[in-house]
Amino acid sequence: MTDFKPLFEDIAKEPLYIAGPCSAESREQLLAAARGVAAAGVAVLRAGVWKPRTKPGSFEGIGSRALEWMAEARNEYGIKVITEVATPEHLNLALDAGVDGIWIGARTTTNPFATQQIADALRGVDTAVIVKNPVIPDVDLWVGAIERIYNSGIRRLAAVHRGFGTHQTTPYRNAPHWSVPIELHRRLPSLTILSDPSHIGGSRNLIATLSQQALNLGFNGLMIECHPNPDAALSDAAQQVTPEHLGEILSQLELRRSPVTADALRDFRLHIDSIDSRIVELLAERMDVSREIGEYKLQHGIAVVQQNRYNELLSTAKQRAESLGLTESFIHQIFSMIHEQSVREQLRIEDESKKKS
Ligand code: PEP
Ligand code: MN
Repeated sequence: MTDFKPLFEDIAKEPLYIAGPCSAESREQLLAAARGVAAAGVAVLRAGVWKPRTKPGSFEGIGSRALEWMAEARNEYGIKVITEVATPEHLNLALDAGVDGIWIGARTTTNPFATQQIADALRGVDTAVIVKNPVIPDVDLWVGAIERIYNSGIRRLAAVHRGFGTHQTTPYRNAPHWSVPIELHRRLPSLTILSDPSHIGGSRNLIATLSQQALNLGFNGLMIECHPNPDAALSDAAQQVTPEHLGEILSQLELRRSPVTADALRDFRLHIDSIDSRIVELLAERMDVSREIGEYKLQHGIAVVQQNRYNELLSTAKQRAESLGLTESFIHQIFSMIHEQSVREQLRIEDESKKKS
């Protein structure tokens, strides 16, 4: 997949900004949102018409009637309009109403059957398609969904990073796990990737920072929820901003446009490369020692995992890390991965010796 095209051929400018309400709620609300986002310099209006809500009984969208308001917004303000589709029926209704593109939501991307049905219905259609990441941080599932759409002949494709569900307490509604969109970009370098700071943050106070972070990481644009009266929104009220606030956020974003030519950067990178190879060598050395310990434990009938030893090792590493200005959670994550791999290596020794005997 190397021949992706821009989502909208007449919007060459980057970053690409898409904004609009979580849900279309009324004709007045949608037209006010369209007017507001257009005034903030945004060329694409988003609005959910069918809403995938986590709990039943919540507002589930106006349905196809709202597509008429979107068409009106398009004519009135010369803005492109996009909406979420989750079934072939949604897709056909949206296309009949003349939308400029559709997006596939996180819950739908998570389900290959649902994505394939939409992909099949897209065959022979020329429209822009945006694929949000699945709710779990699984890059293969995300790429798979993009590939299903691509295989239907769609080339005006983009991905949206909207964060990932987690049971852990984080400052975000959906944890960003930036390494996942970075891996997506490594695999599909010519694909447009946008970030959705509204669904990542879940709170309007986080939008400016998350937007700047995304641009610093090289994302091609943003999708931001914007409502004329956010506090009264029927869905995702806490994370929507007024059009004025949106304009302010966008005007304060800094764009890093300098090409990577500076010698200083090259020097830093050489330094980083040499540190990284040392890290890899050290990890290999550590695993060698782990395997030796594994042999010893096997011969002397000692269990592979010694909880006290693991706790002790972790706390020593954390103390050392803290004195060097590294966070405890970072060291915890790294060491639990290293320890897990050591255990795996030691279990392998046991398995191999059983096979031999
Ligand atoms: C949305 O964009 O309003 C939406 C439902 O997003 P997601 O699929 O990312 O949850
Ligand atoms: Mn929303």
